[in-house]
Amino acid sequence: MNILSSQLPSEGFGYPFAAINIKPMTFLDVVEYLESVPKDPLSKYLYDINWLVADDPNIKKCYIMDIDYLRFMKKLTTVSPDLSMEITVTCPDCGKTLKKKLRIVDIMFKTADPIVMNGAVVKLKGRTYSVTPPTVEEFHKVFQKYLKFRKVSNLDLIKLIALIDDFYDRPNEVEDAVLSATHDDITALLALKDLYFNRVEPVKMYCDICNNGLKKEERRELTVSIDELIVDFFREITINNQLDEDKIQFKQVLQTR
Ligand SMILES: [Zn+2]
Repeated sequence: MNILSSQLPSEGFGYPFAAINIKPMTFLDVVEYLESVPKDPLSKYLYDINWLVADDPNIKKCYIMDIDYLRFMKKLTTVSPDLSMEITVTCPDCGKTLKKKLRIVDIMFKTADPIVMNGAVVKLKGRTYSVTPPTVEEFHKVFQKYLKFRKVSNLDLIKLIALIDDFYDRPNEVEDAVLSATHDDITALLALKDLYFNRVEPVKMYCDICNNGLKKEERRELTVSIDELIVDFFREITINNQLDEDKIQFKQVLQTR
């Protein structure tokens, strides 16, 4: 499937290509993916990016803010040819199984403003740092360092470090500015995280039992992040692609017809 650059969270800001191509995984792909997918979140993130880049090398030039959306699209196109899928979530309050048909139009994200995409400066520990949204290629450079030394294992923190241009010249100083941030430095970093990453909105669901009799504004919503939605590829594929009765037919039955 082709996804127009303008339909990505970054709106394709500055991209030299008009679209990104994502292919559904084959049976072999899914088996290989499940056999080799790393457990730790850092390596898994990198592993998913490599699958995307194999579909379209231009993905290396995409901003990290677009990657979370593309990772989900890769899974969605694998699970369902019409890009809709049945999702099931357990209500944390009453335990009821909630079902929802999720269509591509239900996947919402906040698009980034060109002013934001042009970068910013942030003051941390009294120093001014230049901030630029990292592409996959730029993020890789920072990421490799952390994969090797494992000093920091939280993906969000590494993404924030990768946001600061000065990392390439003064890695220890930038790392310290992020990791030992206090007070309003923390607030600034959280604001940057919202501006440059985490652009895909969680899916909202409502439990009809827990919300029974409540007015619309009183309803309590349940939010599910898109990362949580595909837990078991084969289960999702078989749920979303039911067989027709003529898909598999037994020879002995055919002969007696
Ligand atoms: Zn409930």
